[in-house]
Amino acid sequence: MTGYGTVESAVEAMKLGAFDFITKPFRSEEILLRVHNALDKRQLRQEVHRLRAEGNGAGELFARRAATEAVHELGHSYGLAHCDDRGCVMWFSNSLAETDRKGPRFCPAHAAELRRLMARP
Ligand SMILES: [Zn+2]
Ligand SMILES: [Zn+2]
Repeated sequence: MTGYGTVESAVEAMKLGAFDFITKPFRSEEILLRVHNALDKRQLRQEVHRLRAEGNGAGELFARRAATEAVHELGHSYGLAHCDDRGCVMWFSNSLAETDRKGPRFCPAHAAELRRLMARP
């Protein structure tokens, strides 16, 4: 399981306040489990579809922001750099509005690079 260490370090980062908008009673481990699963390409696509279908309910918007930031950090932990594509999760966002715009998906180039990095032994 190559993904284990990075998920654990992401949990550590969250505990250290990297995701400052994640507050009680939200369970960060649950989000990360979902994000880890979402890194599977098919599940990631389903997750994005689900978020779109459910619209902008406050809880879902919150979960979407958390997932977007967590996917971004996990992308870094796999060695991805920031992206020039404003629709890519690896775009460096300065505000929640920008986070909301990009969403938790990778551009085609980063999706391919992530697939390659994750396939490494
Ligand atoms: Zn970054
Ligand atoms: Zn990208």
